[in-house]
Amino acid sequence: MNAGWEAVIGLEVHVQLATQSKIFSAAANQFGAPPNSLACPVDLGLPGVLPVLNEAAVRMAVKFGLAIGAEVCERCSFDRKNYFYPDLPKGYQISQLAAPIVGPGLLEVPLDDGTTLAVRIERAHLEEDAGKSIHDAYAGQTGVDLNRAGTPLLEVVSAPDLRTPEQASACFRQLHSLVRYLGICDGDLSQGSMRCDANVSVRPQGRKALGERTEIKNINSFRFVEKAIRFEIDRQIDRLEAGLPVVRETRLYDAAKDETRPMRGKEFSDDYRYFPDPDLLPVVIDHGFIEAARAELPELPGARRRRFQEELGLSEYDAGWLTRDPDTADYFEAATGTDGSNAKRVANWVMGELTARLNRENLTIGAAPVTATALGRLVARIEDGTLSSKTAKTVFEALWDGEGEVDAIIDGRGLKQVQDAGELTGLIDDIVARHPQQAEQFRAGRDKLLGFFVGQVMKATGGKANPRQVNELLREALAKS
Ligand code: ADP
Ligand code: MG
Repeated sequence: MNAGWEAVIGLEVHVQLATQSKIFSAAANQFGAPPNSLACPVDLGLPGVLPVLNEAAVRMAVKFGLAIGAEVCERCSFDRKNYFYPDLPKGYQISQLAAPIVGPGLLEVPLDDGTTLAVRIERAHLEEDAGKSIHDAYAGQTGVDLNRAGTPLLEVVSAPDLRTPEQASACFRQLHSLVRYLGICDGDLSQGSMRCDANVSVRPQGRKALGERTEIKNINSFRFVEKAIRFEIDRQIDRLEAGLPVVRETRLYDAAKDETRPMRGKEFSDDYRYFPDPDLLPVVIDHGFIEAARAELPELPGARRRRFQEELGLSEYDAGWLTRDPDTADYFEAATGTDGSNAKRVANWVMGELTARLNRENLTIGAAPVTATALGRLVARIEDGTLSSKTAKTVFEALWDGEGEVDAIIDGRGLKQVQDAGELTGLIDDIVARHPQQAEQFRAGRDKLLGFFVGQVMKATGGKANPRQVNELLREALAKS
């Protein structure tokens, strides 16, 4: 399948910036308010109003530019993109065409096989979002909610550097991770905080020239990016192999049917009659502003991943997993002791038990009832031998249910592992003496019977003995009698 063909993919990702107010007005930038309660005269496009650029949006765009090593435009400007749509009351969207705020940069995208793909970012520009048409609120009618009108967007445009659906979704994920680290977007895909348009074409393997492309609009999940592109690649190859051309057009992905279908013919930038917005002066971004933004940059995902590998000895996979989202990385670091010796164990708990429980209850790590400090303590109690892995799970559940602190739970529930060798030896001798037949068979070579004895000891200690220690002591006891 697909033999002889190569896909070429470029992404355009819309990032809603997490500013307090909108990009050109003082209305609140918030999701989920009652329809039209957050639209002021500027957002409504009433006559006589003037847009005023939000400095916070500029700062966020600059931070993004610095994070991908791009040049920040010292004098960027805004243009009007004209089109007619019910949710766009002005009849144009303010965007940047000629002089975008962020120039070419590079995004390092970690791939599943452990390698990194450098994806060129052509540009990133500021623009305002449109409102929303609501089709399901009134029977047979369409409502318009302008709360989203004027929400600041950073549109990030990649070069056509991606070759597979997996690379494309990894790129989208990495952008998501980056804007979360930068604190410029809440990253909530379900609320439309990030939306991805995928440009897809195919060409015969080995050919340099790009094929005709289609653009799949508004994909809002990592998985759907992959599926939509996969469908589209196959569709284009089928057409070309049947002697039909790929038609330049905008398509929509239907997740329920797992297919893309045409939405409208592709418009070219001429169709938008772009021209400089006369209401907005060019924006001069000086050196001081850029350096102040640079000083606020946090440690970025790639650097943090490498640090987790080098300083904490985590595997590439674990480090990548834990650093994808800054809250997860923060939690992990807070649970890890200063010398990092317990890092691998903490990583296993975060990636295993904790994540499983969070997923089951549909919670984010920020809302985990088990704090990072508590998890760190729990792991310490495994390492000092107080807890077995089994009793540790019981303590974890109790922590989750709010039963108090780790040590109090261990004491309260009597979960302290029996470690006193003397105490255990007595118990074991006793058990061996009570089962002479099994002991005999064990000595005759039925090794499996060790499991029987371990079970007896565990039963007698209520699961509180250290299995490794029990194994050792049992072998000794069985050998000597
Ligand atoms: P437009 O003006 O139509 O928006 P751009 O040149 O700005 O076109 O490109 C938009 C996106 O499409 C970019 O992400 C770019 O990488 C991608 N792209 C351009 N040509 C192709 C192609 N032939 N196949 C796949 N993606 C492409
Ligand atoms: Mg475009």
